Amino acid sequence: NPFARAKYALSAHNFRQLPPDAGAEVAFAGRSNAGKSSCLNALVQQNALARVSKTPGRTQQLVFFDVAPQKHLVDLPGYGYAKVPQDLQAHWQQFLDGYFSTRDALQGLVVIMDIRHPLKDYDRQMLGYAASRGLPAHAVLTKADKLSRGAAANTLQAVRMELQRLWADTVSVQTFSAESKQGVDELRKVVSFWLQI
Ligand code: GDP
Repeated sequence: NPFARAKYALSAHNFRQLPPDAGAEVAFAGRSNAGKSSCLNALVQQNALARVSKTPGRTQQLVFFDVAPQKHLVDLPGYGYAKVPQDLQAHWQQFLDGYFSTRDALQGLVVIMDIRHPLKDYDRQMLGYAASRGLPAHAVLTKADKLSRGAAANTLQAVRMELQRLWADTVSVQTFSAESKQGVDELRKVVSFWLQI
């Protein structure tokens, strides 16, 4: 597991606070409660790694984890932040837009979705960000343990067809469960390929 030694590096609230735009990084996005923290923790096999992203004040920052020298995982704020004041939301929109459109180190985007509620507006927006600059994206349908195998397979197929329709071959998709660890190896392969580790 090339992610076993991942550790918290820093949090950035604006461009000035970002680490140098060098090396490679993969961003993780997901609506609040989709299961993003659990997915990150399962990926790196550490129970508390992503807890840091949930501490008060960090929910409005990009949280960087070091995997290897100049290889980062980036936890994007759990969007769906209905309670965030209007001006903060504008700041965020600007920061995220800018990050996605200018960040050279960014190699790919992982979008975590609850398999029971896939492809909400927010998810489509994030996948659109990636597609608009030709960045590959990978959709993770998590909490697959909440569905029967048949229902999970049906959702996977439906989501795959919709992604294909919207963004052709730039987006891949898999099922996942932080509970059963189903799909962890598949996700590790995608992310380690993007990071070249
Ligand atoms: P986040 O807000 O996207 O970071 O979501 P969390 O990782 O904190 O998960 C939200 C809730 O979903 C928690 O109660 C988790 O225990 C639960 N959860 C996350 N992943 C799974 C999963 O794969 N299976 C099941 N059954 N529950 C999960």
